[in-house]
Amino acid sequence: MRGAAERALGVHRVLEPAGVLPQAAQRLDADPAIGPDEVRIAVERLNLDAASFRQLSEAHAGDGEAVRAAVLEIVRDRGKMQNPVTGSGGMLIGVVDAVGEESPLGLAAGQRVATLVSLTLTPLRVTDGLARWNGRSEQVPASGTAILFARSIAAVLPDDLPDAVSLAVLDVCGAPAATARVVERTGARSVVVLGAAGKSGCLSLAAARAAGATHLTGLVRTEAEAAALRTSGLADRVTVADATDPLAVAAAVGTPADLTVVCVDVAGAEHGAVLATADGGTVVFFSMATTFPAAALGAEGMAADVTMLVGNGYTPGHAELALELYRSTPGVRALIDPRVAE
Ligand code: NAP
Repeated sequence: MRGAAERALGVHRVLEPAGVLPQAAQRLDADPAIGPDEVRIAVERLNLDAASFRQLSEAHAGDGEAVRAAVLEIVRDRGKMQNPVTGSGGMLIGVVDAVGEESPLGLAAGQRVATLVSLTLTPLRVTDGLARWNGRSEQVPASGTAILFARSIAAVLPDDLPDAVSLAVLDVCGAPAATARVVERTGARSVVVLGAAGKSGCLSLAAARAAGATHLTGLVRTEAEAAALRTSGLADRVTVADATDPLAVAAAVGTPADLTVVCVDVAGAEHGAVLATADGGTVVFFSMATTFPAAALGAEGMAADVTMLVGNGYTPGHAELALELYRSTPGVRALIDPRVAE
């Protein structure tokens, strides 16, 4: 058996290639039998990452049956849900059904939890063929098992919110936490959010406001989203542009901001984000459709002195912050609830 530190990272579950951590693995061992430091979850519902779901839907021209077959094949082949094109996953909710005697996670059998580690590193077995899912929503009713390692994190589901809401909010809880942290640490006052009417976008606006930002601009793609965002009251200014069109973004944003948060679920927003950001400012790339060369070389090519942060899905206290923003901000609920209902 491997050392405790390696096992805590889940290295013993990597089938190939040898020597990588589970997130980078091609295949994981999803055997439901747990080791002494592991926890098994009886899966109830998956939440596919927005960039992954969009890619799968577009690749299969919206054919739900084909999307379902593709997700099943990925999970069967890889022992985890990691979209090979976007590299992203999502997260899940379920019931704790076995806890190894050495697990440090503090979970107990019977608790309903959301895993706060990505599906891209979570050993997963699906046993119902995803028969209750039509392939047309990010949320996927599912039966099966998932494994948590000693260094995984999970949150007990709040009993005051519907599961679908908790799942949607917790999936993107890293975005408001990262936004709040940058506003607090840098004193950023003006903030632009690209994809501001989406789940992570509206939570980021609310987090920026709560952390002390005073000039909030929400950029959205359509007039319908603009109307919804205006009604929500989360942004001081709402502007419409295609986030993948850098010149259109720059024109729509006007004076560049201290902080830009990229919350779209499509590729190609890097250059617009850099143009939207003032010299000395910060860009948080929360979107999983971000590419490192486009961001780094694009900024260099524009001689833009901006700090670029990868939106780490984990920040201490991120789950509680996001759930509290949802509970306390009517505008956030107004934007997230219809998406969850879809
Ligand atoms: P979401 O709710 O679907 O929101 C995305 C928003 O972007 C939508 O409002 C969408 O508009 C908008 N959008 C799409 N294309 C656009 C364009 N060209 N111009 C302007 N707006 C555009 O997605 P989400 O759940 O918040 O996720 C957002 C991103 O975060 C995804 O890339 C996801 O993969 C990523 N993510 C990252 C982490 C992490 O740990 N870093 C964790 C979870 C998710 P429409 O609805 O009109 O298409």
